[in-house]
Amino acid sequence: MALPGTIEMLDTLVSTPSVSCTDADIDRSNAAVIEHLANWLDELSFDVEVIPMPDVPGKANLIARRGGTGPDGLVLAGHTDTVPCDPHLWDVDPFAITEKGDSFYGLGTCDMKGFFPLALNAVAAFEGESLTKPLTVVATCDEETSMDGARYLQSKGFLKARAAVIGEPTDMRPVRAHKGIMMLSIQIEGASGHSSNPALGKNAIEAANQIISRLIRYREALAERHRHLDFEVAVPTLNFGCLHGGDNPNRICGSAELQIDFRTLPGMDSETILAELTAEVIAAAGDFPITVTPLMKPVSAHETDADGHLVRTLERLSGKTSGVVAFGTEAPFFDALGMETVVFGAGSIDQAHQPNEFLPAAQIDPMERALTALIDHYCR
Ligand SMILES: [Zn+2]
Repeated sequence: MALPGTIEMLDTLVSTPSVSCTDADIDRSNAAVIEHLANWLDELSFDVEVIPMPDVPGKANLIARRGGTGPDGLVLAGHTDTVPCDPHLWDVDPFAITEKGDSFYGLGTCDMKGFFPLALNAVAAFEGESLTKPLTVVATCDEETSMDGARYLQSKGFLKARAAVIGEPTDMRPVRAHKGIMMLSIQIEGASGHSSNPALGKNAIEAANQIISRLIRYREALAERHRHLDFEVAVPTLNFGCLHGGDNPNRICGSAELQIDFRTLPGMDSETILAELTAEVIAAAGDFPITVTPLMKPVSAHETDADGHLVRTLERLSGKTSGVVAFGTEAPFFDALGMETVVFGAGSIDQAHQPNEFLPAAQIDPMERALTALIDHYCR
């Protein structure tokens, strides 16, 4: 049995919901998507391994190999989950493929279920031919929430290769770097009391004020130390996203919570920054008990050498010079396994995470050709 057609595969994947969400009521299993990919890759004579996530029922990764194992060869990787959607804001059914104009619409068409049919077609071009170096297709879970799928594959060392392509939508521009992400909650414990006498309590809002002032100075100091001119925002950022505390004007505020978002530059270590930032917060808070809790596991920044072999090869194949982006990807996890990792895919991030997401038809053939050339280059 041959592979189904490109749009048939795309329709199958998009009409199999695999929304991941930090809200458990909205979160769905990705198992059915993994099963479709496993069946197709099995048809293409790959050794398919489905790796369930420990302690997370219904979530799994897939690793499919041809041409052996070992530290050489190429990985083509993508995530199988999508963000949630607002169907009432869509002009078409988000869970089906609609062809309109020169594009294919549906949830996950560009971010990034659409990558898999194109990768599979590229892979199918080598059916029956022997590959001298391993070709590996990787499909992960929960990229849109925790990145735990890729995190797990990295922590267990499941993968090895010379190079990896992450097929996130970049309009087929090779992307060699992005920032890292960290989100923290800072809980401040004070004591409530009658507002008429400040000595009757400890005002958590005033402690928050001290913390914010100190973190602004810390942010300025970091911006002096760290700069990467390829990024539109060339310095690390620290955003005060929300501040909750207190209930009534005539009560001393007894507790407050401040949530911040921090974007690291390549070369900045998340653990070090977290330790520094926590020390700053504690120093600013004085005798107020403080708890600093990550709201998500940090995602590292990513950077691959602009002169790297994969970067140069993709620049040649796409006719576009490599660049950097503001959004995070699973690239740092593949990078950590020793692969030269580049983000490169059809469709645009401008259409991702919003109604009427689409994949432009015009990029399907060029993307397949680029991936076919890559496989030829790295695996034969
Ligand atoms: Zn994505």
